[in-house]
Amino acid sequence: MQNINKIINGKMYADSLLREILPLSSNYSDKFLRNPCLAVILVGEDPASKIYVKNKLLTAERNNIKSIEIKLLKETTEEHLLNEISKLNKDTNVDGILVQLPLPVHISEKLVIQSIDPLKDVDGFHPTNFGALFMGDPNFIPCTPLGCFYMLKKELKNLDGKNAVIIGRSNIVGKPMASLLLSSNCTVTITHSKTKNLREHCRNADILISAIGRPEIIDETYIKPNAIVIDVGINRLDLNNIKTNEKKYKLVGDVRFEKVINIAQKITPVPGGVGPMTIACLMHNTVKAAYMNKNEDFVNIIEGFS
Ligand code: NDP
Repeated sequence: MQNINKIINGKMYADSLLREILPLSSNYSDKFLRNPCLAVILVGEDPASKIYVKNKLLTAERNNIKSIEIKLLKETTEEHLLNEISKLNKDTNVDGILVQLPLPVHISEKLVIQSIDPLKDVDGFHPTNFGALFMGDPNFIPCTPLGCFYMLKKELKNLDGKNAVIIGRSNIVGKPMASLLLSSNCTVTITHSKTKNLREHCRNADILISAIGRPEIIDETYIKPNAIVIDVGINRLDLNNIKTNEKKYKLVGDVRFEKVINIAQKITPVPGGVGPMTIACLMHNTVKAAYMNKNEDFVNIIEGFS
């Protein structure tokens, strides 16, 4: 197979999912005389967070979803942030609430996540939604693992009996990813920084999902021939030119793409893989929240869940 055919095009999958979401948000507007609405809170000036928020708001706008952006100073107190969330929880015209992570260290992420109404928790991080996912009865599924899962289902159709290895055990990616794959009958291994013989675990993976956050540390020696590789990592490599003082950077994944593509059956690139799918899934969850908040049925368009 030519290497170009091995690339899992996340942008294409995201566009295809958004094409299915748009009529649902338009029908919602016709019926309820307002668009589904997503509120995004950004605390501080983290450059990566600002780009993520901008992309989320732009995608919402293009898909008939109203967005509200609340920008707070990095010195904002925890009490003030909780107060803002409380107002959004009570606002019947707001369907989804997202607080962009990470938060400044003086604010408890745990407390903030727990303060969001689970019915508006479009990131799926609230313990109620997190628990429901692990009980096999999901409501809002965290967007990044949901996006990875969507692409895997599209590529493989049937995941029964596959050995899936996840590198990373965060609540945002690793753990919910494991739950999704387990529900789809994979045999799942979760690995992390203390895992012994990481390479051997990975070489046993029919599906390898890397969510580490270290540039290109997974090379071809970690890959089972014909594996499907999903690279969640987003790492910024500075390419500053000291002589000209020119500031440049390049985004890379956890996986050494140009080597691994020769061995893998399929692989997601960075950028253009998991990132666009994460945003498309956020739109999916927001429109779902809007329907649920009106006690309307939502026809779930992500295969495998109803
Ligand atoms: P965390 O830092 O919360 O988790 C990283 C995980 O990787 C931890 O479980 C850690 O282990 C593990 N780890 C670190 N070093 C190693 C190592 N050498 N070998 C094996 N495991 C290791 O990160 P997130 O889960 O939030 O994000 C992971 C990456 O995914 C980041 O690059 C982030 O930017 C990206 N990301 C991309 C998204 C997208 O839309 N594409 C969305 C969300 C995240 P331990 O638990 O032992 O510390």
